[in-house]
Amino acid sequence: MKIRNGAQYMDSLRKLKPRIYYKGKPIDDVTRHPATAPHIRSAAMTYALAGSDEYGDLATAVSHLTGRTISRFTHVHQNVEDLIKKIKLLRVLGQKTGTCFQRCVGLDGINATYSVAYEMDEKYGTNYLERFKKWLIRIQDENLMVVGAMTDPKGDRSKSPADQPDPDQYVHVVERREGGIVIRGAKLHMTGAVNSHEILVMPTTAMNERSRDWAVVCAVPVDAPGITMIFGRQASDDRRDRRERIDVGKPSFGAVGGEAVIAFEDVFVPHERVFMDGETDFTGTLVYRFAAHHRANYGACKTGLMDVLTGAVAYLVQIQGTAKGSHVRDKITEMIHLNETLYSSSIACSAEGWPTPSGAYMVDTMLANVCKQNITRFHFEVARLAVDLAGGFLATLPSQYDLESEDVGHLVRKYFSGAQGIPTEHRIKIARMIEAMTGGTALIESMHGAGSPQAQRIMILREGQLDKKIRLAKALIGIPQKN
Ligand code: SF4
Ligand code: FE
Repeated sequence: MKIRNGAQYMDSLRKLKPRIYYKGKPIDDVTRHPATAPHIRSAAMTYALAGSDEYGDLATAVSHLTGRTISRFTHVHQNVEDLIKKIKLLRVLGQKTGTCFQRCVGLDGINATYSVAYEMDEKYGTNYLERFKKWLIRIQDENLMVVGAMTDPKGDRSKSPADQPDPDQYVHVVERREGGIVIRGAKLHMTGAVNSHEILVMPTTAMNERSRDWAVVCAVPVDAPGITMIFGRQASDDRRDRRERIDVGKPSFGAVGGEAVIAFEDVFVPHERVFMDGETDFTGTLVYRFAAHHRANYGACKTGLMDVLTGAVAYLVQIQGTAKGSHVRDKITEMIHLNETLYSSSIACSAEGWPTPSGAYMVDTMLANVCKQNITRFHFEVARLAVDLAGGFLATLPSQYDLESEDVGHLVRKYFSGAQGIPTEHRIKIARMIEAMTGGTALIESMHGAGSPQAQRIMILREGQLDKKIRLAKALIGIPQKN
């Protein structure tokens, strides 16, 4: 692996020249800009763990393409053990960063594209898999970060890509030239986009036959001509001033992944980087495999950060002298129980993994959908319990400026103190972290990341085998199956 640690990862980003805007101004160096740097430190943790003695086995894998040791974030899952190791790795990373570390989106895109490329080649005699393998070996050997770019703007949601009044609402091929294609459109909510090396463009939905130009999968360097990114705002991002390290909540890492718009304004993509062009009948499979992998992840990364949140609350109630209350202990028990329930489904859908014809392993899709569906509820319930136990002062705390003020600092220290011997500053720091972890942006990500709740419900009903369940019920009470 060329990039061997977090510092080398940051250096590698400084060598790229992507066009990135935030609050109307360009960002020259994402590794140092206060809006983007916390997210990059979080992604850097994926590099750090790969080199660590303790987690190296989880964070690396042996490439089935080259036999070389690679980051697990660039690996094509070869068996159930790979799927389970990924889940364990994501929980550790959630614990170490308390937030999204972004790199799983590219991993899931790599796995979905690999298996679907194989199946397209089988059916159409194309050579997508060979192209993809070549690209992937470079990603693995150099240990690059890939942003899996799926979600299109979608315009009028009642219309298919080909029927949109504005065809750019879905990324599409606008020209086929000697040597490659030209694409136009945008991808929204792209986690880790500004600190990735490569973009893996994928369709966002199943396409009909008329949408051939929109059925495109390809890889593009982040600084290819014609690409512009706009980094999103997050709750309290103006607090990321050097002086406001306490008020920001988690000073080292962001509240959530760090998302951006990626606009493609006539970007040329050479053929060797094109892995689907017009095979509309495979778009649904590709989207669904990607989504299932990512839904499985949520019961791991989010449980890691909920471990941190539970620990923060458990410490805060100690400081506040309420830790022994029976209802406090019960609520903390419930937080742990909900969290471990989520983790169980992540492990379960991985343990029930199965090989696609390419050999790449898929998670059990029903259990992955159940996992993500529960995230959209349990994460909110865990956050509700955390806010309940922490107390209303989360919302009314004076700022770090007041804490450090010569005029009023003594008042803040005196009246926000807790148990004797514990500095007031500790109580405030913990409260700010809980505020950041239960506030707007973090929870919205759990609701809509990897697909909104309704997307999982559609799949749960579709895969729920209702006919079989009806037959089971009839059989038990002797109703003929034909009635
Ligand atoms: Fe990975 Fe979780 Fe972030 Fe998705 S939300 S990229 S699974 S850390
Ligand atoms: Fe996400």
